[in-house]
Amino acid sequence: MSSQSADGAPITGRLAPSPTGLLHLGHVRTFVLAWCSARSRAGRLLLRFDDLDAQRSKPEFADAALEDLAWLGLDWDEPITWQSSQQDRYAVALQQLTDMGLCYPCVCSRLDVQDAVAAPHQGQEGLEPHYPGTCRGLFASLEEARRKTGKAASLRYRVPEGFVEFDDRVWGPQRIDVAQSVGDFVVARRDGTAAYQLAVVVDDAAAGVTEVVRGADLLESTARQWLLQRSLGLAHPNWAHLPLLLDDQGRRLAKRSDSLSIRALRQAGCDPQRVVAWIARSVGLGVGDKCWPRELLSGFDLAKIAAEPERNTAPKMTALLG
Ligand code: GLU
Repeated sequence: MSSQSADGAPITGRLAPSPTGLLHLGHVRTFVLAWCSARSRAGRLLLRFDDLDAQRSKPEFADAALEDLAWLGLDWDEPITWQSSQQDRYAVALQQLTDMGLCYPCVCSRLDVQDAVAAPHQGQEGLEPHYPGTCRGLFASLEEARRKTGKAASLRYRVPEGFVEFDDRVWGPQRIDVAQSVGDFVVARRDGTAAYQLAVVVDDAAAGVTEVVRGADLLESTARQWLLQRSLGLAHPNWAHLPLLLDDQGRRLAKRSDSLSIRALRQAGCDPQRVVAWIARSVGLGVGDKCWPRELLSGFDLAKIAAEPERNTAPKMTALLG
């Protein structure tokens, strides 16, 4: 098996949990498959904690994630990284975008943006409003924005017209018009910290990530990240967005719905190999009642994973206890 990607870089995947709650079956399904994708081709697999949300990120959730992932038989290559300690890198990228005239200060609040739109767009965090470009061209700098309005400004990326095209290993060719869907998006918050879209792009590039395997809720965000990569002169990784696990009413599992948290399964005496086997079967891999992730590596191919809704319904906890 080759451990190099098509352009000769070492195959490098990553797991990127946000330590804002306990991991549930949906998260670890993505992580097991991301692990298999990299390890089945002798690739590296990195672990990064996306802890930019200082209010919601908690060290105890990061500790729980480390324990839960190890319990499931997953491993990763050192060092573990934390987004909260990469601010210098983000500042360099923001300066590059600013110097190229590709971002601008914006003093609109979330509420201002919501009020300005008729039809919100379904994006990463639920319904996302389309930003109508209110502050485009208004302020020459963050300082000027503050002086003129008395408000701290965020920075928005100036989205070009037209479609972004990329291939997804699960969903096939994608064509997304970012200007039409969300419009100019935030790359730095009012307090100066990097926003998710920018941080992910900078981190993946710095770590040499060649493949991003994550939940389908981020498929739309990928087009924004593609634009940032192009502007910053960074390589595009391969993408695979895995179908989200849904509850029996068709809603995605939430971090708050604790019954299928890995912690709860462990406490109920669940065998980790049952969880892994359930994950494998849920994406059409033929395995028995129990297995470890390493037993899935031979012939593993993400492109064969079906994005069919009926495969994506979460089981009851009792089904995992055996
Ligand atoms: N930390 C993000 C999440 O938990 C994933 C980021 C990414 O994969 O790009 O939703």
